[in-house]
Amino acid sequence: MSRKIAVIGAGQAGLICAIGLLDQGHEVTLYSDRTASNWLNDVPPTGLNGIQHASAQIERRYGLDYWGSEPEAVGIDLTLVADGQPGPRLIGRAAGPIQVVDLRLKCSRWMEEFETRGGTLVIQSVELEQLEAIAAQHELTIVAAGKAKLMGEVFQRDPERSVYDRPQRRIAMLLVKGVDDRKFPGFKFPALKFNLFPEWGEYFWLPYFHKTGQRCYSMIFEAKPGGPMDLFDDCRSGAEAVEVGKQFVRQHAPWELEACENMELMDEMGWLKGGFPPTVRHPVGRLPSGAIVTPLGDTAMAFDPVGGQGGNNGIHMTQNLLEQVQANGDAPFDEQWMTNTFERHWQNFGRAAYSFNNKLLEPLEPALASVVMAAAKNTAIADDFVSRFDSPNRFFPWIEDMELAQQHLAQFAS
Ligand SMILES: Cc1cc2nc3c(=O)[nH]c(=O)nc-3n(C[C@H](O)[C@H](O)[C@H](O)COP(=O)(O)OP(=O)(O)OC[C@H]3O[C@@H](n4cnc5c(N)ncnc54)[C@H](O)[C@@H]3O)c2cc1C
Repeated sequence: MSRKIAVIGAGQAGLICAIGLLDQGHEVTLYSDRTASNWLNDVPPTGLNGIQHASAQIERRYGLDYWGSEPEAVGIDLTLVADGQPGPRLIGRAAGPIQVVDLRLKCSRWMEEFETRGGTLVIQSVELEQLEAIAAQHELTIVAAGKAKLMGEVFQRDPERSVYDRPQRRIAMLLVKGVDDRKFPGFKFPALKFNLFPEWGEYFWLPYFHKTGQRCYSMIFEAKPGGPMDLFDDCRSGAEAVEVGKQFVRQHAPWELEACENMELMDEMGWLKGGFPPTVRHPVGRLPSGAIVTPLGDTAMAFDPVGGQGGNNGIHMTQNLLEQVQANGDAPFDEQWMTNTFERHWQNFGRAAYSFNNKLLEPLEPALASVVMAAAKNTAIADDFVSRFDSPNRFFPWIEDMELAQQHLAQFAS
């Protein structure tokens, strides 16, 4: 049965959802505050989105994998920096390639695809008044507007699940050309390359497919507020931020300087800075009229970028929602359906992804630290550890229990 459904927000979660609903035969209207051309030409990316293999397979299911194997990180390369020197290092292969395509390219292309497949696109910034009108005209209204402030007011923060009430990191993301990854000491393969400074935060590199079709790199600083890495607040341009990033490497990670000393900003809008608290919201938003709407993607769960889980979680949440819409047949999309739909995702994926990601914001707990240290010495353990980023449920329960962690490690004893 065809249902009348509205999606607010043409980011990756909203677009996969809207296209998936069209494929199920529903009448879908997508409300976006930007056109495909705005996405491509006028804005910075909303985030980064290192897509793990399982998420890429979901995109493929809806015929949205236009970029094949463009650019891929083969795995994760994590260095613990201690006393100003590179310390233990874990290099492991992921379950499949980790892909990062510029969200500006992805979303603009998918917006065109949405219309080609018969969806109705409305370019409009949806404020509360419009949301009321949209909810009144549709059987189901899905809000995938990212971390937009208004949507945060519509969906109450879940204090128990959210854990944090303030940003844990000050974030700077730079898209840069001129990085020669083969000059990273001990280069094995293109990787999501973390440098962990236990007191200061982290910075990491990830190969990136830029909207112009060029391969480049993204560099992300995750600074503990007020610490020596928290340097980007005063930057007024991306070029300035790149110089600050380079200076940080020069001073605190000089072994990486040869690989990046010629780096330059990719495009004027190719950078971001700021911070937000990781947040889980209630799955039912009640509007002043009493109408209800449900959140998706970052609107429902906003992750700190530290573990590269936010976008992946949004894709899995979208797949879950699509399955639940289909299973609902012609029954109403009521409060119970919205709650059950979110709970299903929370139980199957969201809780583990969020909990694992939050653990990376804290000093490593003993069980997790013991596995990371073992992985730094043993490739099989490293490959196994890194492959679990794809489906974070597989980190539990041993990640939280020293005895279970030791049992887990015993499997690799020869
Ligand atoms: C620095 C950084 C690095 C990251 N790294 C990773 C990573 O490696 N792996 C990973 O999986 N995730 C990562 N993430 C997270 C990932 O980028 C996000 O989770 C994901 O892009 C969110 O997608 P979304 O569709 O939910 O929201 P968004 O991408 O924010 O899209 C929301 C859309 O809604 C539109 N909108 C907003 N308000 C309105 C309105 N009122 N009316 C109409 N439209 C509206 C916006 O313009 C936008 O187009 C990272 C994030 C950051 C910031």
